[in-house]
Amino acid sequence: MERVLIKLFIYLFLFLSFSSYAHGQVRRYVPGEVIVKLKNKTGVSGQSFLGKATSQKGLRVRGAFKRMGIYHFAIKENQKVEDAVEEMKADPDVEYAEPNYIFSKATVGNVTQSFSVLEVSAMASASSEYYMATGAPIQVTNTWASIVHNSVPIVAVIDTGLNMNHPVFSTTDAVWQNPGEIPGNGIDDDGNGFVDDVNGWNFITNSGVMLDDDGHGTHVSGIILGVTQDIYTPPYPSAKMRIMPLKFLDGEGYGKTSDAIKAIYYAVNNGATVLNNSWGGNSYSAALHEAISYTYDAGAIFVAAAGNNGANNDSSPMYPASFAVPNIISVAATTDTDALAYFSNYGHSSVHLASPGVFILSTLPSGYGSMSGTSMATPFVSGLAALMKTERPNLLGYQAKQLIMGNTDSISGLNSKVVSEGRMDVYNTIQATKLANISGSQPPYKYTNADRNLSSSIAASGCGVVSKMISKGQGGPGGGSTPESWSIFILLALLALPIIVYNALRQKNPKDKRQHERFKINSEVKVKVGDRELIGSISTISLGGVQLNTNAMLESGGIVSMVIRSPDGAEQIAIEGRVVWSEAQKAYGVQFAQTSQAIHERIATWTKSLVKAS
Ligand code: CA
Repeated sequence: MERVLIKLFIYLFLFLSFSSYAHGQVRRYVPGEVIVKLKNKTGVSGQSFLGKATSQKGLRVRGAFKRMGIYHFAIKENQKVEDAVEEMKADPDVEYAEPNYIFSKATVGNVTQSFSVLEVSAMASASSEYYMATGAPIQVTNTWASIVHNSVPIVAVIDTGLNMNHPVFSTTDAVWQNPGEIPGNGIDDDGNGFVDDVNGWNFITNSGVMLDDDGHGTHVSGIILGVTQDIYTPPYPSAKMRIMPLKFLDGEGYGKTSDAIKAIYYAVNNGATVLNNSWGGNSYSAALHEAISYTYDAGAIFVAAAGNNGANNDSSPMYPASFAVPNIISVAATTDTDALAYFSNYGHSSVHLASPGVFILSTLPSGYGSMSGTSMATPFVSGLAALMKTERPNLLGYQAKQLIMGNTDSISGLNSKVVSEGRMDVYNTIQATKLANISGSQPPYKYTNADRNLSSSIAASGCGVVSKMISKGQGGPGGGSTPESWSIFILLALLALPIIVYNALRQKNPKDKRQHERFKINSEVKVKVGDRELIGSISTISLGGVQLNTNAMLESGGIVSMVIRSPDGAEQIAIEGRVVWSEAQKAYGVQFAQTSQAIHERIATWTKSLVKAS
């Protein structure tokens, strides 16, 4: 038994470190694209640049924010992004030019436990404290009954989308409805530039069809809603807010700056006053900075995840959390014992407060599940901000931020770690909000790109939002290698065990005639499909192929390149294969394209210690 446990720990360790390794390889910007701001957005100068851009520079307009003078271009096919950016910076008409950076969701690891709607409802009625136990010590129940329904704030969830068929959303009024749009008539009825944007917008497919092919956005949305009501026990009550899903992160949790900007403008222009941003990256984008300053001018609050590198944002900024816009509230994550989560970024002058972010139970597309990350801490603050807007509809985002920060619970573990040195407190903040003087004005903020030099180099460090937990555990920067954070790590490992055991024991039906004996394996694999890089797991292996499990869609018949880890983690093999069957877009049979004698021998050696698959 002990050996099995040790082995499982090794698997978990490998899984985490491999995730870390793989995320380090992820591209930091979209190839072949740039974002440009013109100095004179409406005058002759701007026009002349656009003329030059299309005729001489070979640029094609992919998107435009004409009022801001910001353009999103595709560059010439053979030109490097770095060269295009430098060329445009040298143009006298250009204020700034930058790559179209890629950002990612801010979770750690995967779903650690999942439950059906029925299971969670049974747990919730067996113990009304369940959400407290999983969500940590926030006094939310005190506020539920006492809030008067003055107005219904709109919370934009800029994320991976939303599964609107989940009963929490499908049987309630929790999802925003665009009052000016007639569903399915193919017309932009309200003239906002989006056709049939009935509940929000999907910037990946450029349509009003909302889905969540990752689960992250649905989980985040449930947490926001859960601050003001029970999301575990049906029938679910009428919502006190409206969730506006804006999908810009893809099924693997990655999204482009150009789409993030579009989502931010959409949110504000369509009435959202709270913007939840459980994503980030290390790349400074002036265009993103400018878009967020627009949300400040509009009086909204911009809630952003501090990031999961276990790093100090004061010295290594995480965007959008670290922009100096006054309505940004940057959120770190705490455990249920009020310690700073081992993965959480912090910053005494740049991260504003913390809220719970470890093993948070919330909605998933298929039921409920626990997830961890500053991604999960952020929506608690967004939910609180929505509740404050319910109480005081005219509260500006900037003032909401001051009230939230001024009414935190002082936590010793947060001393010198966050600006307020506290964890958010729903009850205290709402009491203070009721009594607050609302001034109706806020200090002016002029966007400047003066801090561009912080990370203006394209070659700066990678977009490591989800990538650094292991390096931290091994003695990385900050307080991460303390015994406390190790104990949390071990706890996390223990809680992940059932899933690993389940995966190890899971059997799939054979999908094709197999010439080789298959063996059960639980190993991580890095998969390359075209220029996409994915992470998956292998659940069976034979001399002829593997069963590959990944959330990403793979085409049947498609060629994939894989790097497969051995069961003991000691070695890896690189091999090409063809997708020969798929099951519910999660499990794929991949037949090896060709195997050398050496690879045959390696696999044969690996399988000696493995159990045969039936
Ligand atoms: Ca419309």
